[in-house]
Formats: sequence, C-alpha cells, structure tokens
Amino acid sequence: MRSAADEIRRSLLQGADPDTAASETTVVETIRRHLDAATARRVRRVINATGIILHTGLGRAVLPRQARDAMSEAMGPAVVEIDPATGERTVRTHAVQDLLVELTGAEAATVVNNNAAATMLILNTVAAGREVIVSRGELVEIGGSFRMPDVMTASGARLVDVGTTNRTHLRDFASAITEDTGALFRAHTSNYKVVGFTKAVELEELVALGREHEVPVIDDVGSGALVDLSRFGFGEEPLVPRSIATGADLVCFSGDKLVGGPQAGFIVGRAEWIRRIEKNPLARAFRVDKLALAGIEATLRLFLDESTLFEHNPTLRMLAMPAEAIEAKAKSLLERLQSVAPKLHTRVARESSQLGSGSLPTEDLPTFVVAPRREDFARAELARRLRSGEPSVFARVKNDELLLDPRTLQDGEDAEVVRAVENALRQTE
Ligand SMILES: *Cc1c(COP(=O)(O)O)cnc(C)c1O
Repeated sequence: MRSAADEIRRSLLQGADPDTAASETTVVETIRRHLDAATARRVRRVINATGIILHTGLGRAVLPRQARDAMSEAMGPAVVEIDPATGERTVRTHAVQDLLVELTGAEAATVVNNNAAATMLILNTVAAGREVIVSRGELVEIGGSFRMPDVMTASGARLVDVGTTNRTHLRDFASAITEDTGALFRAHTSNYKVVGFTKAVELEELVALGREHEVPVIDDVGSGALVDLSRFGFGEEPLVPRSIATGADLVCFSGDKLVGGPQAGFIVGRAEWIRRIEKNPLARAFRVDKLALAGIEATLRLFLDESTLFEHNPTLRMLAMPAEAIEAKAKSLLERLQSVAPKLHTRVARESSQLGSGSLPTEDLPTFVVAPRREDFARAELARRLRSGEPSVFARVKNDELLLDPRTLQDGEDAEVVRAVENALRQTE
C-alpha cells in the first residue's frame, strides 16, 4: 500500500488531475496492481518468441522432456550418492562420468555447477600460486561480470598474457614458459571473432609445446559441441571430442549451451587431473544439486543415439530447423492472428534468429518472423503487454517493430501466442 501511495503521489507531483489520479477507483486499482505484483511468483513459465535459442534472460536451454521427467522424479528420495548394489556411499558425479567419457573420448570426467566454476576449479587445482599462459586475444568477457582474467586471478593462478590482440604465435607461448608455469590455457572466443590480419595458436601446437615442457594444456571450449554441427553450416564451434583427441589435458564446457541441458560445467580429460580436481575442497562448493544431476544425466543419454538426438533435444532441434519449415509456421501463425484480430496489420518477413548466450555470434540463422502492428498502438506497448500477460510472451523488438520468431516456439505454443496477442489487444477496447 505504501508503494501504491508513492506511485499516486508521484503522478500528482507530475501534475496529474487529483480527481482521477487520486480517485477511489484509481487508489483501489493501484493497490490491487501492487499487491498482484508483490504476490506473483517471479520465476515462472514464459513463451520465447524472440528467436534467440539460448536466451540468458529466459534461463538458457529449454530442457528435453527426458530431463524434465528425470528431474521431477529426483525431487523425492533418489539414487544420488549411493550404490544400490552394495548400499555403500558413492560420489555423486559418478552418475555422469561414464557418459561423458563415452561421448568425449576422455579418460575421465566430472561435473560442477557451471563452466565458470569448472574453469576456476581447474586453475585452482592445476596452477594455484603458479603462472598460467594465455593469448591476449582470448581474454574473454563472457557477460555479466565473468571475465577470464578475473576468474584466473580469483583461482589463485597468476595470469601471463602473451601475443597481441590480433596475433599470437607459438613462440610467444614458448618464450613465456618458465620454472613457474603451471598451465597453458586456451579459451574459445565464444562471443566475438577477430578477423583480418590474425593468427591464433592451434591446439595441436600448444599440446606439443606443453608435452615438451611437461606443462598441462587446458582448453575452455565454452559452448561444448558434442556433435558436429558443420552439416548445418556451423563450422566455428570447437568439438569437445576433437579437443580431447588432439591431446588437451583438460577440457571444460557448459551444460546449458549447445549440450542443451541444465546449468552445469563439465570437465573432461586426464584421469590423474580429474582425481585431483575432485579432491579439491572447492569441488564441494561447486557441486551440482541432485535435480540438475538428474537432468544432466538424462540430457547426455540422448547423445548416445544421434538418430533421435535432434528430435529430442530442443536446443539442437531449434538450431537445425530448416528455414522453409519456419516459413510455413510463420504463415500459419499469421493466418491465425488475422482471423482473431482483423484490425491487426501483420506481415511475414525474412529475419535472422540467434543461438544466443555468446555462441556462434557471427552465424546467421535465416528465419521468418511474424510482425504484428496496429496503427493506434505504440509498438513497444504491445511488446510490454505480451510480456506481462498470461501466458507471458517474449518477442523481439527491432527498429521499434514487434517480431515473433516461430523458431523458438515449442509444440502447441503458437495457439497460446495467438491468445496472448488477442488479450493484449483487448485491453484497449
Ligand atoms: C559461456 C562460457 C563460459 C561460462 O560458462 P557458464 O556455464 O555460463 O559459467 C566460460 N568460457 C567460455 C569460453 C564460454 O563460452
């Protein structure tokens, strides 16, 4: 009630007419609105019509049904840290170790709660108090406050950056190696690309250098492609199995980017390093909870059968959706919108979707969007109403135009979008 009174006071101070701005109806309505907002659950389902497949604001990956089922089952008592055969206590990460080993070809594997934690845990285990050499061109800021140099420092390792922004040679790494070198580090420049006069050190070369000096090579591949996406035209994402095959000692990647599962950070590589990582006290601080663990296991299992993977994993399904299929969905959405809202001007337009979360930043995913518009309606207002409606729909706003991208709609959600647009328009009539 206090915040409602504040709002009314503010509008009076801005010169609103007291007869309406402070009428009994307005006061009651304002209090109701504030109460609704204060009691509504904040983390709730929304419909993603933005065309951004891994939308950080909307919680990154849409989980496969198999993962949702497993997570729901794990809410009660579940096999988490116990061996059903012996009744003995086990380590929880063992639930996904074999799967990760099978899918990446690594000797051993473990899992923590995200890739930032994975990076920090690796560096703290391998190189605390020692130097870690990294190319200046790879000092990535992932977003939020996650900056590679800061994570390195927080891990207790000393960062030694070599080369220049656009060019780093193997000799830059070689000449920086000292008695004190704890690791050679490579970070995938997930969310940007340096083009033009450039030179990066290949993993092969780094591995050879590391072997020669007996220094471990760490590869932070970021998005974590477990299957080759080049047949869809995405050649840029480093493949985890390829990194392992090339000889990286430790590779880390996210669970909720291209893997398409719950938030997690995977670490795969040499058995001896994995053993030491799991013994690090920080591993306990970074451990995954049982719901995530259940979802991670179910998501990784889908990768064992590539013939059904793209059908079952929503992230990969949305990524691989052909433009013609999206065009057909856009046209059908347009027809349904026109039939319920004849006053709406709607058109289908060519656009691009995005993978999001800093993955494949320069790739163009051709798509078709529906752009509804009403002359008497501020465009941002329609977007705002759709977001706050029930169901809540997040659309893209580009050059002040509202765009609905069917690529990121899940089965049956187009009918809900139609209903949401109808509701949003009705509020004015
Ligand atoms: C996304 C990303 C991270 C951070 O991963 P989270 O799982 O979001 O913590 C770290 N390194 C690279 C290269 C990334 O792309």
